Amino acid sequence: MRTLWTNGTIYTMKKEGDTVEAVLVEGDKILACGNRAEIEQQYEIDQVQDLNGAVMYPGFVDSHLHMIGHGEKLMRLDLSDIHSAEEMRTTLKEKVYSTPLNEWIIGDGWNENNFVDRKIFHRFELDEIAPHHPMMLTRICRHALLANSKALQLAGITNETPDPPGGVIVRDSNGSPTGYLLDKAQDLVKNAIPQVTEEYLDRALKTSIEDLTKHGIVGGHSEDLNYYGGFLRTYQTFLNVVNEDQLKFKANLLVHHEVVEDMHGHGYSVGASNGYVELGSMKIFADGALGGRTAYLSKPYNDMPETYGVAIHSLTELKELVKKARTYKMPVAIHTIGDLALEFALYAVEEHPPPEGLRDRFVHGQVVRPDLIERLKKVPVIIDIQPHFVASDFPWVIERLGEERMQYSFAWKTLLNEGIPCASGSDAPIETADPLATIYAAVMRKKVGDQHEGFYPEQKLTPYEAVELYTKGSAYAIGKENEMGHIDNGYSADFTVLSEDLFRINPESIPQVKVLKTVVNNTVVYSAE
Ligand SMILES: [Zn+2]
Repeated sequence: MRTLWTNGTIYTMKKEGDTVEAVLVEGDKILACGNRAEIEQQYEIDQVQDLNGAVMYPGFVDSHLHMIGHGEKLMRLDLSDIHSAEEMRTTLKEKVYSTPLNEWIIGDGWNENNFVDRKIFHRFELDEIAPHHPMMLTRICRHALLANSKALQLAGITNETPDPPGGVIVRDSNGSPTGYLLDKAQDLVKNAIPQVTEEYLDRALKTSIEDLTKHGIVGGHSEDLNYYGGFLRTYQTFLNVVNEDQLKFKANLLVHHEVVEDMHGHGYSVGASNGYVELGSMKIFADGALGGRTAYLSKPYNDMPETYGVAIHSLTELKELVKKARTYKMPVAIHTIGDLALEFALYAVEEHPPPEGLRDRFVHGQVVRPDLIERLKKVPVIIDIQPHFVASDFPWVIERLGEERMQYSFAWKTLLNEGIPCASGSDAPIETADPLATIYAAVMRKKVGDQHEGFYPEQKLTPYEAVELYTKGSAYAIGKENEMGHIDNGYSADFTVLSEDLFRINPESIPQVKVLKTVVNNTVVYSAE
């Protein structure tokens, strides 16, 4: 079966501005591309996909997100759009009224930086809203949560409970927990929530993928395997939902180091794949995030000089974890937001390099330093950036880090100019999964509608660079640059078809561009019609 895609603008992404008239697909791979008349002369064609003047790119792949979490967010109470403590109170009350007694109330994405008074609720205030329901409200960064008294009680947290390693139970002047839990302390409450059912997981993943394909995404590098009751159950969810017969989507799954043994115990290893779902790098967290001041910095926080943030592992532990990955022949994906976390990660991969031909990834890379850039150049590592954090974290992050550090923070253009390979993604559900919103943030460095020239405009990417990171960048991150990320002979027939040309329109109108078709292995998985 041969399909000819033609009658639009088709960007190959081989080099800037490169287009072809037609792409011929056989099965799920590109057989030929170039001049339409020549292809028609040379090959038998079974069907034509008429682009009707639309613009086709290689399929966009999100290089870092949490797919099940994204689906859960779509199914759960979303607090990310709330702009005052009063609004949050009203929204929570409504949810309480509609939830059976004793059932957990779970909300995601609140951000006190969006409130005029920057209010963080105390558990007593949450108790007034929900006296009979356990309540857990995750902060936008996922590195902190709020719990009411009922939830703390179920989690067994009392005045006497010590801070767990890598976490903080915030307390008032009497030593009583306020309900605010940071990093690893969150697990105390999360572990008290009854385990989700397999049916729920399938529904969450399906909801997620339907939303992603609607946004033009053909694949994603996703981190989920440690959060839903073990490796096998979560992996099975992916196999149930994503396959040739059900739903086509290219998923590369990061394997949290705590489930690596679990995975091998069930006979799976890195690279295992059913053609759509494959197992990728070992995920390690080196630090937290800037929102909760848990990103690990070499110099203290500008707005709280007594803290440097939190290292999730000591340097020795981090090196041990990387060494463990190597015994399983796995590359690593290390979450590093602060510069000291990045430095720790560098020490670890310098001492224990990946197996020949594989690449490690550092996820986020929000705060770097010139000396670290020099070291990054010498190791086979890519940085997974999420440009939408610029829209969400500015301007408050400037006060948090201090002007001086900003030149090398969220400095995507500097990384590219220095030749550091990068890939782009969303970190959904923390940020929006919409690639057009992410591309806009990379190009404009501001929120949609803001009337200024962008935060640190010298760090703006061109639209071409921003799309490169979503296509070639994501392919390179998993060593598939010869199979995906371009439109060329032998490459996967994965396409994102848009209503407008991202490289020619005024960047201000990028968020209004429509996704017309999303194509995975030559199958149209989403169509706007
Ligand atoms: Zn993440």
